[in-house]
Amino acid sequence: MDDMFRFADEFGPTRIIHIYRPSLALKAIVVVDNTACGAAIGGVRMAPDVSVAECFRLARAMTWKNAAAGLPHGGGKSVIFGNPRIAAAAKEQLIRGFAAAIHDVSDYIPGPDMGTNEQCMAWVRDETGRAVGLPGVLGGIPLDEIGATGFGLAACVDVAREFIGLDLKGARIAVQGFGAVGKHAARFLAEKGAVLVAASDTSGTLADASGLDVGSLIALKQAGQSLRDHDKGVKLAADAILDIDCDIWIPAARPDVVRADNVSRLRTRLLPQGANIPCTPEAEQALHARGVLVVPDFIANAGGVICAAIEYRGGTQRDALDYIDERVRANTRAVLQESRRDKTLPRAAALALAERRVRRAMQMRRWR
Ligand code: NAD
Repeated sequence: MDDMFRFADEFGPTRIIHIYRPSLALKAIVVVDNTACGAAIGGVRMAPDVSVAECFRLARAMTWKNAAAGLPHGGGKSVIFGNPRIAAAAKEQLIRGFAAAIHDVSDYIPGPDMGTNEQCMAWVRDETGRAVGLPGVLGGIPLDEIGATGFGLAACVDVAREFIGLDLKGARIAVQGFGAVGKHAARFLAEKGAVLVAASDTSGTLADASGLDVGSLIALKQAGQSLRDHDKGVKLAADAILDIDCDIWIPAARPDVVRADNVSRLRTRLLPQGANIPCTPEAEQALHARGVLVVPDFIANAGGVICAAIEYRGGTQRDALDYIDERVRANTRAVLQESRRDKTLPRAAALALAERRVRRAMQMRRWR
């Protein structure tokens, strides 16, 4: 009994659902965290090894991200235990089985996450009538194709730079992880005059202090090649991206890449977090102490979920980009002003902002 409620605090989770269908070999967990702001939006992760605790943490992160973004949505997350690379027919059966099982969990709106994609969301919508991250033919906005999160990151940087007196024209950027988030962040920042001096993927780091051509790197990746296949620039090891002298260092790959043992290698003034939890708490503290401005993940990378929420309301790509621009700018400014005024970490200010919004929404609920 006690164990079942080990995650419970004043915010949630309102429900943890255990799904088991032996005939389908389906095992899944859904965590609906806090729904005071509205039905929870959160991804469906398909992976062999995600714990209930991790699912809860991811759901809570969505509560803060959605509230901070001012969306009328709470936070949730689900995990289907299994190999995401199984044959298409078997995957369809599993995803449809999962969707049928959550048909009545009407305060949870599933979206794509690691191991699932827009096709999977089409199956979920077919079974339940709700999902985000859908194919275009079902009203979806292709958020990774248009670079919704990278677009928001660029808006975030455009505000954060004012706090450190940095001009974007000629600002040197380094991007760790040249994927859906990283490449579009580089593209939108280059359009504002910034210069990409280094980028990395799993193949290594490509560096050129005089500037890399973002368009040709994107074309290279689209052709299925790696950054190391580029004919210009210096090729270094993947983790050499940490040592690049720059003004803006963008993590857009994996969690926990900046830690106490390597944080001293970073030579940057601004670190907007594209990836989720790219810095450990100790590293974030150390950066703050050194005067490096860090914009926390759930403020800086909210573009994707904002796009999903606009899609859910039937909005267009233009509506999504306008809303991302307006929201991410306003939140970045509010968080950095509060952090400066109260002399706290930007993450503490961001959490306080999100908590205030959730608490205010909770006051309006019947069972508060
Ligand atoms: P992606 O798979 O499209 O791109 C990730 C890139 O990182 C790839 O180019 C890969 O080669 C590279 N990479 C992986 N490990 C690396 C390493 N050790 N060193 C250097 N490069 C490495 O993924 P994505 O959608 O761009 O997501 C990136 C991060 O941003 C993830 O943490 C994700 O959770 C987070 N995020 C994504 C979105 C979104 O809209 N896609 C929104 C919010 C947060």
